[in-house]
Amino acid sequence: MNIILMGPPGAGKGTQAKILEEKYGLKQLSTGDMLRAERAAGTELGTRVQAIMDAGDLVSDDIIIEMIEKRMNEKDCANGVIFDGFPRTIPQADALGLMLKAKGTGIALVVDLAVDENILFERVEKRAAEAVAAGQPVRNDDKPEVVTRRIREYKTYTAEVSPYYESRGLLLRLDGMQPIDLIASRIQAALPAKK
Ligand code: AMP
Repeated sequence: MNIILMGPPGAGKGTQAKILEEKYGLKQLSTGDMLRAERAAGTELGTRVQAIMDAGDLVSDDIIIEMIEKRMNEKDCANGVIFDGFPRTIPQADALGLMLKAKGTGIALVVDLAVDENILFERVEKRAAEAVAAGQPVRNDDKPEVVTRRIREYKTYTAEVSPYYESRGLLLRLDGMQPIDLIASRIQAALPAKK
């Protein structure tokens, strides 16, 4: 079973992904985390995407699709994947559809978590403050000017990607301001019975 979680930065995608992962034995793939890991490891890919990410821009579809395709072939993805932060463009959505089809599977549900912009800033600021308190570095893309840009970018891509899945009857829009448990149960209720 494969699920897509969509939502702006700070909407709670990571939290919901963790819950689904435990409940259904799925693997969360966050393209943002994967790219950050590449950077931390100092790989060639990491170096290539550094400036793009720090500016809050989108990494090219080719890079993202290749990275996901490679990762999905690993064993821990065999039960299914929760995509977090992907797909962000129509070419990415098309490529994902083809990739899953080739594996004899598809997308079970696409969840779009909507959150008020002001609250998003508060959440991201909190995340930055928590990182500082824990002696960890603040993500470059959690800086206010970059967050503004990422929210704008989210609106642009979601305006494209949401209708893509809505027209396929797969989109579930939820208010990300609701309690974590309630959002989790709404998602579970919308999933097909088959795991
Ligand atoms: P995220 O943690 O999902 O917000 O991603 C952080 C940054 O990684 C984004 O601002 C983009 O620069 C890049 N990124 C992550 N996922 C994608 C994607 N699916 N397509 C293009 N760029 C991405």
